[in-house]
Amino acid sequence: MVIAIIATLLIARGAGFEIVLGAAVVGGGAGALLAKRVEMTQMPQLVAVLHSFVGLAAVLIGFNNYLAPPVLTDTTEIAIHQCEIYLGVLIGTITFAGSIVAFLKLQGTLSGKPLMIPGRHALNLVIVFACIALGYRFMTAPTQADGIVALIAMIVLAIVLGLHLVMAIGGADMPVVVSMLNSYSGWAAAATGFMLNNDLLITTGALVGSSGAILSYIMCRAMNRSFLSVILGGFGATTASSSAAIEGEVIATSIDEVCTILREASEVIIVPGYGMAVAQAQTTISEITRKLTGLGVRVRFGIHPVAGRLPGHMNVLLAEAKVPYDIVLEMDEINEDFHNTDVVLVIGANDIVNPGALEDPGSPIAGMPVLEVWKARTVVVSKRSMAAGYAGVDNPLFYKDNTRMLFGDAKGSVDALLKQLAA
Ligand code: NDP
Repeated sequence: MVIAIIATLLIARGAGFEIVLGAAVVGGGAGALLAKRVEMTQMPQLVAVLHSFVGLAAVLIGFNNYLAPPVLTDTTEIAIHQCEIYLGVLIGTITFAGSIVAFLKLQGTLSGKPLMIPGRHALNLVIVFACIALGYRFMTAPTQADGIVALIAMIVLAIVLGLHLVMAIGGADMPVVVSMLNSYSGWAAAATGFMLNNDLLITTGALVGSSGAILSYIMCRAMNRSFLSVILGGFGATTASSSAAIEGEVIATSIDEVCTILREASEVIIVPGYGMAVAQAQTTISEITRKLTGLGVRVRFGIHPVAGRLPGHMNVLLAEAKVPYDIVLEMDEINEDFHNTDVVLVIGANDIVNPGALEDPGSPIAGMPVLEVWKARTVVVSKRSMAAGYAGVDNPLFYKDNTRMLFGDAKGSVDALLKQLAA
């Protein structure tokens, strides 16, 4: 980006330098301020908004390029250029509309529940065919005004497609959507690069587009989702609703009891989730880890690939709190070890430890691999209430015989626990 900005400023030396510099200062200032102010837990929202800007930029540049085209004489070149404009505006609009819905869902303004319109795949297909037909009209438009009409008609359809694709995806699957929109924004930038004949933009756009696609694919695999159904919007399984009634009783515990359980344990696994990030409990948890290790207890961390609200969220927080990296293990590395574990401390996590994902085929998160914490001798869950997690599903873990609920803000709870352990 630095290379691109400097190059643009150098090109603008002749004319418009003040405007480009002014725009860079205002835009850069706003971006820096936003990024500085945003909470770690609001990061996905910020990323979604930034993707929408990339989409919008591709649309605006497309219009600009159509209204003031570069001088081209060869008819093939003109056709290729128009095709680039059409694709850039199409991908840009889908990215823009999809990112706005992703932002509203992540922000909680729109419900995380998937919107399932009957025949939605057919609707998507009809829109795609209509966009192809409009593309033909655009390419063969006798006048510029006709071309603009076709372009605007396609934009309306692409907005419906972008909105619908993301509306159909349920809350728990949003991480995949965010990385997929990341990929789309890369392709939109690459298309803009072709329009502007700018190699740097094509290269960076293709890098973002393909790395975003690879990340989406890896996340889909980690969450046991089909990549194709993500791209088409809405996962097959999300139409189901939970059928299993939860049995068992909720057993509340106290700091004293948890302290005793931990002191008597020899193997402890800590599973952090979104609540730990909200409560900012990681530093105290790091101290508890040190304290327990000093008492001869083996402490490790189990990290789910979508714990928190962005990939790597927990790893960053734990590294910040100076938890040694060799005791922080990925889900696949630690899932086999729970049955040999005395105590699992679940700190503000919910969906990622929900046994319903494996046991209830009707659950909206069915099929998603989870940390199988219930296999441990005792599970202590620190959260404020019985409220559901991001996916909005009840969690049978909280009703199991070997689960103890430590109610209260995670920071308050772990602070009290550390004090008690120290005493
Ligand atoms: P969840 O959102 O499932 O659960 C978090 C739990 O933390 C809540 O049930 C809440 O319960 C509790 N909590 C909230 N604040 C506090 C607090 N101050 N103190 C103690 N507890 C608190 O989080 P998980 O990490 O288990 O799962 C992540 C979810 O987010 C998944 O569904 C995932 O798909 C989704 N997601 C992940 C993204 C990623 O890239 N990682 C991006 C977007 C979504 P209570 O209110 O009772 O305290």
